[in-house]
Amino acid sequence: MIPYKHEPFTDFSIEENRNAYLEGLKTVEAYLGQDYPLIIGGERVTTEDKIVSFNPADKEEIVGRVSKSNKELAEKAMQEADAAFKTWKKVKPEVRADVLFRAAAIIRRRKHEFSALLTKEAGKPWNEADADTAEAIDFLEYYGRQMLRLKDGMPMESRPGEYNRYDYIPLGVGVVISPWNFAFAIMAGTTVAAMVAGNTVLLKPASTTPVVAYKFIEVLEEAGMPKGVVNYIPGPGSEVGDYLVDHPNTRFISFTGSKEVGLRIADRSSKVNEGQIWMKRLIAEMGGKNTMVVDNNADLELAAQSIVKSAFGFSGQKCSAGSRAVIVEDVYDEVLERVVELTNELTIGNTVDQSNFMGPVIDGNSYKKIMDYIEIGKGEGRLVAGGDGDDSTGFFVNPTVFADLDPQARIMQEEIFGPVVGLMKAKDFKEAIAIANNTEYGLTGGVITNNREHLEYARDEFHVGNLYFNRGCTGAIVGYQSFGGFNMSGTDSKAGGPDYLVLHMQAQTTSEMF
Ligand code: GLU
Repeated sequence: MIPYKHEPFTDFSIEENRNAYLEGLKTVEAYLGQDYPLIIGGERVTTEDKIVSFNPADKEEIVGRVSKSNKELAEKAMQEADAAFKTWKKVKPEVRADVLFRAAAIIRRRKHEFSALLTKEAGKPWNEADADTAEAIDFLEYYGRQMLRLKDGMPMESRPGEYNRYDYIPLGVGVVISPWNFAFAIMAGTTVAAMVAGNTVLLKPASTTPVVAYKFIEVLEEAGMPKGVVNYIPGPGSEVGDYLVDHPNTRFISFTGSKEVGLRIADRSSKVNEGQIWMKRLIAEMGGKNTMVVDNNADLELAAQSIVKSAFGFSGQKCSAGSRAVIVEDVYDEVLERVVELTNELTIGNTVDQSNFMGPVIDGNSYKKIMDYIEIGKGEGRLVAGGDGDDSTGFFVNPTVFADLDPQARIMQEEIFGPVVGLMKAKDFKEAIAIANNTEYGLTGGVITNNREHLEYARDEFHVGNLYFNRGCTGAIVGYQSFGGFNMSGTDSKAGGPDYLVLHMQAQTTSEMF
């Protein structure tokens, strides 16, 4: 087996690659507007009620109409997943991993089609879509290999006449609730981590991006996944999500999304319901209020570039996004000026056009929420770039920068999940780190400095799950920068990390006397 290496990003300055992407767009355009059923126990189930997935850059463009699950269908899916678990858990780990490796190969061959679908369904710019697809491939390759390493358990001591073993065995049926912002990577990663470990899955993808998830299940089927191992049941969280989180047969929940929903799941999943014989396990990746810290002894161009990229990549809709920057006062004005310049240079529009750096935000609710925060920001700080939007054809919010904020300002405390960044001054580096820490979250953070002592200070004091030095705070790569945060950012289950699969398993000790 070749060692794991992350999938390279596509260089779109090469004409051949640009053409390949345009071909991908054509493939996707040919299947826009189709109907998609649920997949329960391998069977296609069509419902009257539909989720309509549209292009957030162009509200009129329907990406697909997807059947909507309800309680009855969720129950049917649970029964199928329960039944499939009895056989899937006994399938050799090598065979389970092969499904992932084959799926990775299939996706690699259809890479630009998948990325183009993300452009249409999530409004991703080409490079962001390409990275999302690459990350999906990485999760398949990485977790497949991780399962091969875990299959013989961990070494244990044995005394003469005794044979002790420590084996990892699967948990049972897992409910995977995945987000729209990495509609491919996180959906696929959380699903296959659960499944390769020998569990069966009820996948409830985000209602704004269900088509890419359907296409992924088709790939798993083509790669040899048996019926019922992953069941595809998009539907409303308040009905399908709650029903499955509460279900006594649910063994674990893998959730990525907002803090509010994560805490609701934590609360509901801690109740023991009639017939339930375990404590449910919860793997949760929630929000962030991530900070870029700039020291006075820093490369200021790098600082400004990193702030802008971390704030506005994919319209700030990453949990990892750098939505605030704390700058030591001696260099504050200079960094601020450059951030504004760079922000004003950004192009925004429909991301089918490669030249647009930023596309829309995901939907009308999100647009409204971000615009409301921009109004709040106008009262809290000085608006120095952006501050407006246009939702006539799609949901476009201009990249927005507020300056001179107070650390307790709502713009500096609440997760906005849009292209808004707040800047503020600190008197020195220590104060900057203290401000960076004054949030209930603890996901990512970045420090730009050339002072080695300050880097070490940040390593000790800056309390985030993913801490980056002299670079932006987004763009973690599977197997290189395992991803997950502290405090209200979740359970610090590090996606793409060496101990992620184990979270989906339980260890069994056996001891035999000879
Ligand atoms: N892993 C992504 C990154 O490092 C963020 C994932 C998320 O937004 O949930 O940028």
